[in-house]
Amino acid sequence: MLVKRIIKPCLLGLRSVSGRGNVLSVVNARQQHNSAEELTPPLRSTRPETSSAKSLMDIGTRRIFNEDHDLFRESVRRFFQEEVVPHHKEWEKAGEVSREVWLKAGEQGLLGVTVPEEYGGIGGDFFSAVVTLEEQMYSNCSGPGFSLHSDVVMPYVVNYGSKEQIERFIPPMVAGKCICAIAMTEPGAGSDLQGVRTNAKRDGSDWILNGNKVFITNGWMANLVVVVAVTNREAKSAAHGISLFLVEDGMKGFQKGRKLEKIGLKAQDTAELFFEDVRLPANALLGEVNKGFYYLMNELPQERLVIAAMAIASSEFMFEETRNYVLQRKAFGKTIAHLQTVQHKLAELKTDICVGRSFIDNCIQLHAEKRLDASTASMAKYWASDMQNKVATQCLQLHGGWGYMWEYPIAKAFVDSRIQPIYGGTNEIMKELIARTIVSQK
Ligand SMILES: Cc1cc2nc3c(=O)[nH]c(=O)nc-3n(C[C@H](O)[C@H](O)[C@H](O)COP(=O)(O)OP(=O)(O)OC[C@H]3O[C@@H](n4cnc5c(N)ncnc54)[C@H](O)[C@@H]3O)c2cc1C
Repeated sequence: MLVKRIIKPCLLGLRSVSGRGNVLSVVNARQQHNSAEELTPPLRSTRPETSSAKSLMDIGTRRIFNEDHDLFRESVRRFFQEEVVPHHKEWEKAGEVSREVWLKAGEQGLLGVTVPEEYGGIGGDFFSAVVTLEEQMYSNCSGPGFSLHSDVVMPYVVNYGSKEQIERFIPPMVAGKCICAIAMTEPGAGSDLQGVRTNAKRDGSDWILNGNKVFITNGWMANLVVVVAVTNREAKSAAHGISLFLVEDGMKGFQKGRKLEKIGLKAQDTAELFFEDVRLPANALLGEVNKGFYYLMNELPQERLVIAAMAIASSEFMFEETRNYVLQRKAFGKTIAHLQTVQHKLAELKTDICVGRSFIDNCIQLHAEKRLDASTASMAKYWASDMQNKVATQCLQLHGGWGYMWEYPIAKAFVDSRIQPIYGGTNEIMKELIARTIVSQK
């Protein structure tokens, strides 16, 4: 049975973020009034899955999407080709992207796609957010930290922020004027979040924040940072004594360290942050005091799914890049695509990626229906990011020595892949989380 999508003509004239009538305004108008039930995909779809499409990156494929998403995808693809690809080399040297590209992404409606309209956002569905991050992976340009900003940090402000915080921060975030970051990790506390030492102490109605964070994505460019800090050392467990704070660039005592030199993600700014007696007003607290750990546990599954979605999209990019390469590279008088070992390798790679695509699309669908549990999100993150690294290794190998050269896109995709099993919770921690539910279910 085909599920009918309700298109409310009265909503089709929704405002566009830029005032230029971007594609997303149409997508939103059609989608924001769909109930979870309406999000259920048709049981019979004529859309091809990637396994039978001409290319794994084709527009118009996969039953989780519809024609509105295709239109949106076209515009996002164009954005990355025109506004990001031509500048990426220069940003890799600088270790950061330009502020201009953030503003342009905001103008095009590519930031905070899922933030509801009543909060100053765009009101698109999660599928549209997935389109933006997939297209970034297809462009092979990891510099702009759009997804962390939109799909990881903004939900904290939207879900736990006061009306005042939402009104103050969300519109500039959607516009790309306020770049945001989340600071959990510290030099002595990564996997073990309960070991954070950064702390905030009350002083009247204010808070005084002290401590330091490391490896913070968007940290150098950030205008606003969600900081994880201990607020009650006497709590029955560390998890019960953690809170989140909104810390703004320019606050006295807030210092950014150097941009960290990484083996990959060359154009993405990753920084250390230092807080020395930073006085925070009461309204810098995000949500309720001592509830921070609970908020993190609620939001981390989306972050993990986002990493998984990026992993599959990157694998699809690497596969297509490699297919093109072997079709033109000659050895022993013919293209290497003629060699059976190469063909079998491509067959294995395509099969692995398509199997992964199927699971991840299912997770995306579940998440859009608010039915994705934390353990399944962990499976998605660990499996997809491990597969991405296997694909990266094999695809680089099929490029021979040229694959080791920075000017070849596969080299960049290879080093960018390496971080995926580490951040967002390492894959070892993902297995811990999955295992816990296995043994507790009996
Ligand atoms: C490029 C980059 C961007 C990042 N962006 C951010 C960001 O924006 N915000 C942020 O807060 N953090 C960020 N991080 C930090 C990242 O999330 C952490 O590096 C990660 O969680 C691992 O923590 P760690 O580095 O302290 O490693 P550790 O926790 O010291 O782990 C070291 C090793 O021990 C293993 N290990 C630890 N505990 C266990 C266990 N219980 N069982 C089995 N194995 C275990 C780990 O899996 C790992 O292999 C980023 C990191 C990088 C490199």
